[in-house]
Amino acid sequence: MSNTPDVVRTVKELRGITAEWRRDGEASALIPTMGALHEGHLSLIDLAHEHADRSVVSIFVNPKQFSPAEDLATYPRDEEGDLEKLYERDADLVYIPDGPEMYPPDFSTSIGVEGMSQSLCGASRPHFFGGVATVVAKLLIQAQCDYAVFGEKDYQQLLVVRRMARDLNIPTEILGAPTVREDDGLAMSSRNQYLSRQDREMAPHLYAVLENVAESIRAGVAVGKALHEGVQVLAQAGFDVDYLELRDGRTLEPIDALTESSGRIFAGAYLGKTRLIDNIAV
Ligand code: AMP
Repeated sequence: MSNTPDVVRTVKELRGITAEWRRDGEASALIPTMGALHEGHLSLIDLAHEHADRSVVSIFVNPKQFSPAEDLATYPRDEEGDLEKLYERDADLVYIPDGPEMYPPDFSTSIGVEGMSQSLCGASRPHFFGGVATVVAKLLIQAQCDYAVFGEKDYQQLLVVRRMARDLNIPTEILGAPTVREDDGLAMSSRNQYLSRQDREMAPHLYAVLENVAESIRAGVAVGKALHEGVQVLAQAGFDVDYLELRDGRTLEPIDALTESSGRIFAGAYLGKTRLIDNIAV
């Protein structure tokens, strides 16, 4: 096959190649994904290449971040399509471990990031950030890259990963990349393909409401009032709102006024069975 990037499936092969890059004085960046790649994922490769000479994209649908009731079995998978996109985007290497390579049968370790993991998405998905922190710690240690790139679309995840890497002295710098959106404002997500046609038409309301709430807060409307109105608009549009909150974008601490420039609004909501999340700076 000529039109595919180099693919490795074991830690040993991965380390062999990243070690060679290091010996040659080339900086490298890891881009962890769960596949079903879209422009949001591919934009992370562009950012990686602004900082590093070499990029490695991992594709692994991590069972540890799904609860038994969630969509692990039906999560979209398209290895062939993903490899084509990665080839076109000049990813240097693709790492696709299988389940046992990542989690041997007697795997016994888990990583938890206290505090930050427990609110917002962590409140309704208590298993989630432990699963993410565990797999990302493994990926960072496996790849031993200088940088790793994560999307601001999953802003809480970005902060949890950054804290985990700092706490564990993992010498990989965590970079955040801006959210890539569809033309109508909907944040790109592998899960968008689950949306029915009707729900897909409704979905951009989430971003529109974030923008409106941010605008109200900037204009001096009380934060509680602006958020309450946002929840009502979303509910009327058919969303089942999990949370809509103003938080400090550096610490994720709740804030009830815009004291500094780091305020961020976070939303999580279901349309039908599909969970959508989004966030913007105020
Ligand atoms: P996932 O495959 O959903 O686990 O996402 C892999 C990486 O891509 C994560 O760092 C996400 O934050 C990032 N990502 C997903 N969607 C977007 C998007 N629309 N814009 C920017 N980054 C994204």
